[in-house]
Amino acid sequence: MIRAIALVDLDDTLFQTLRKCPPDVPADRLTPLGFARDGSPLSYATPRQMQFLEWLAETTHLVPVTARSLDALRRARIPFRAAVCAHGGVVLDDAGEVDPDWAETIASRAAPHAGQLADLADAIGGEAKARGVPVNARVLTEGALPLYTLAKHDHADADALFAVVDAAVPSLPAGWTDHRNGNNVALMPPYLGKAHAVAHILPGLRSRYPDAPVIGIGDSHTDAPFMGLCDFAMMPPRSQLAGGMFDGR
Ligand SMILES: [Mg+2]
Repeated sequence: MIRAIALVDLDDTLFQTLRKCPPDVPADRLTPLGFARDGSPLSYATPRQMQFLEWLAETTHLVPVTARSLDALRRARIPFRAAVCAHGGVVLDDAGEVDPDWAETIASRAAPHAGQLADLADAIGGEAKARGVPVNARVLTEGALPLYTLAKHDHADADALFAVVDAAVPSLPAGWTDHRNGNNVALMPPYLGKAHAVAHILPGLRSRYPDAPVIGIGDSHTDAPFMGLCDFAMMPPRSQLAGGMFDGR
């Protein structure tokens, strides 16, 4: 049987929060796939997303490529062994174990940026406080490793969040990524990004499965670089990445 390799973003591609679920799908037809630490459901798939996931699981080597932390990835009910998580900061090998080579690479690249990440979080926190806006900024870590700075608004007011970040961080150093999607601003140093981790795992996948087509699937601007390393790209037509490309045609 011919198999493809599917490198798949999770949030807003395979499932989403209740607020973002399509209004025409009744709540009792949604399947919870993402869970909080206390086990309560956070993210849901529509019946079509569920069948899409089942189809991918049956016909491809499915590799999640997600911004989620390793912990949050493990709280998603998705069949996988290999995975890319934490915006590419962590790679799981085919046995589902943390890839030690990649961990070492990331650790050596991350070390010089730790101070900058903390400074950015402080600047955003200070600006939010001065404006009296409930925005939280912190440095996201995997283990002891600082990876990127994340800012969120307590009540999901994205416009207020973006205004605070714009004022606190008028510009980023060259090579950094400012990723915004919904109530979420991630400021990522140059070494971090899904595409770096995908470039690390792709040669192994290609040699193990020669001629298998690689399909990159995602919804965000930050997915585009890793999708560009694949043979085919797939996206929800109403997504940040699609922009208005499919509207009104
Ligand atoms: Mg996504």
